[in-house]
Amino acid sequence: MKVVIIGNGISGITAARHIRKLSDHHITVVSDETDYFFSRTALMYIYMGHMRQIDTRPYESHFWVKNNIHLLKDRVIEVDFHNKKLHLKNERHHLDYDKLIIATGSSPNKFGWKGQDLEGVRGLYHLQDLEYIEKHSKNLQRAVIVGGGLIGIELAEMFASRNIPVTFLVREKSYWSNVLPKEESAMINKHILEHHIDLKLGTELQEIIDNGQGKAEAVMTNKGEKIPCGFVGLTAGVHPNIGFIKNTPLETQKGIIVNNLLETNITDVYAIGDCAQLQDPNPGRRPIEAVWYTGRMMGETVAYNICGKSVQYNPGIWFNSAKFFDIEYQVYGDVQAHPPENHESIYWEDSNHKKSIRIVYDKNTNQVLGFNLMGIRYRHELCEKWIKEKATLSEVIQNLGAANFDPEFYKQYEQELASIYNNKFPKEKISLQKRRGFNAFLSLFKN
Ligand SMILES: Cc1cc2nc3c(=O)[nH]c(=O)nc-3n(C[C@H](O)[C@H](O)[C@H](O)COP(=O)(O)OP(=O)(O)OC[C@H]3O[C@@H](n4cnc5c(N)ncnc54)[C@H](O)[C@@H]3O)c2cc1C
Repeated sequence: MKVVIIGNGISGITAARHIRKLSDHHITVVSDETDYFFSRTALMYIYMGHMRQIDTRPYESHFWVKNNIHLLKDRVIEVDFHNKKLHLKNERHHLDYDKLIIATGSSPNKFGWKGQDLEGVRGLYHLQDLEYIEKHSKNLQRAVIVGGGLIGIELAEMFASRNIPVTFLVREKSYWSNVLPKEESAMINKHILEHHIDLKLGTELQEIIDNGQGKAEAVMTNKGEKIPCGFVGLTAGVHPNIGFIKNTPLETQKGIIVNNLLETNITDVYAIGDCAQLQDPNPGRRPIEAVWYTGRMMGETVAYNICGKSVQYNPGIWFNSAKFFDIEYQVYGDVQAHPPENHESIYWEDSNHKKSIRIVYDKNTNQVLGFNLMGIRYRHELCEKWIKEKATLSEVIQNLGAANFDPEFYKQYEQELASIYNNKFPKEKISLQKRRGFNAFLSLFKN
C-alpha cells in the first residue's frame, strides 16, 4: 500500500514513524520547507545562537533511509481526490497514493492591515521566516511585534538578545490574558518590562507605513501613535494552512474536518496536527489545538488507523508548556483565564514575582482540576494522575512534595501552599507528608 503524507512536521513525521513500526507500507513524505524534520519550537534558539539548524533535527539523515521512509522536498499544489493523485510544483511526475495524510500545519494570521505585505513585515513560523528575520536584523533600529501570544514573546526575546529595541503591541489589557489567569498574566507583564521591551497593552496595529519604496518604515497604532521601525513581526495567531485544498470536495471549515479516527469526509484521506479540525472534540477541548503535543498524538493515532487497528483520538488531560523570557510555564488540566462559577484556586506567588503555583479545584467537590506553574516544574505524570483520579485539594497539597523533581536541586514551596490552604480552610488544617521527592513519587504510583 502507498501512503503519502503531506508535511514533515511533528504530526506527519510521527505518523510516518509509527506506520513504519506497524507495517511495511510504502511511505512517502512530501514537504516544501526543509529536507528533514526539525523542531519548530527551537527556531528561536537558532536565531539566538544556542543551536545550529542541524542541531534542531531529532533524527540523523540516515534514519530515513534505514527506515525506508522516502522524503521528497516539493510543494503539493493540487490534490486530485478522485484519481488519488498529487500534483507537485517541481516534479514532473504526479504522485499516486492509496492513503493520504494531510499534515500541513499552520500559517501566521494577517488581518488585512494596510501595509501587511511590505518588505520588512513577516510572521515567524517557517524556517524561511527565520532566514528573512535574520536578513532584516542587520542595522535594525527597532522592531515592532504585533500580537501578544507565545510566538510574539519569543520574537521579542530574539530581538532583545541582539539588543535590538522592541515595541510589543498587545491588543488585550494584559499579556495573553485570554489564556493566563489574571495574576500570572500580570507577572509576565512585569517580566516583559524588566527585559526593556516597550510593552504597549490595549494597543492595536492600525497600519504599516511604506517608506515610498515598498518597505516598512513605521507603524501607526489605533491610539494614533506613529512608531518608526525597520521590521514588523506579525504574531497575531495562526490558522490552518489549507489554502491549496480549498474549493475541493474535502470538507473544511477553519481547518480540515475530521472525526475521532482522524478521517476526513473523503475515503482514505486523513488530516492531523495543526491543520485538522475535530468535528467532535472532547468536552472542554477545542476543535483545533495548534500545539506540538497534539500533533504528536494525532500522528500516532492516525498510524494505527491506517494500519488497520482502529484507535480513537483521545488527547487525555490538557498539557502545554512554554517560556516567557526567563520564566518557564507549565499547565496541566483545566486552568481558565475566566473560570466558571464552580472553579476556585489556591494561588501562591514568590516575592520576586518570578514563580507561582496555582492549583484549580472544583469548589463543590474539592476535586483538583488543574495546575498552572510559573518558574517551577512539577512531575507531569503525577499531576495527570491526580486530575484523572479526581484527587481532592487536601490530598494533593499533603503529597505535593512528591511532584517535585530532585529536592536537592530545586527549592520547594509545599509549605507555602499548605499555609494558604490552612488559612482558607481553618477547620480542616493539614500537615505535609514527610516523604518527598522521587521516593514519595514512586510510592504514589505503587497501587
Ligand atoms: C516559533 C514557534 C514556537 C512554537 N513553540 C511551541 C511550544 O513551545 N509548544 C508547543 O506545543 N507548540 C509550539 N509551537 C507550535 C508547534 O510548533 C506546532 O503546533 C507544530 O509544529 C505543528 O505541527 P504540524 O506537524 O501540524 O505542522 P508543521 O510543523 O507546520 O509542519 C507542516 C509542514 O508541511 C509543509 N507544507 C504545508 N503545505 C504544504 C504543501 N502544500 N506541500 C508541501 N508541504 C507543505 C509546511 O511547509 C511544513 O513544513 C510553536 C510554533 C512556532 C512557529
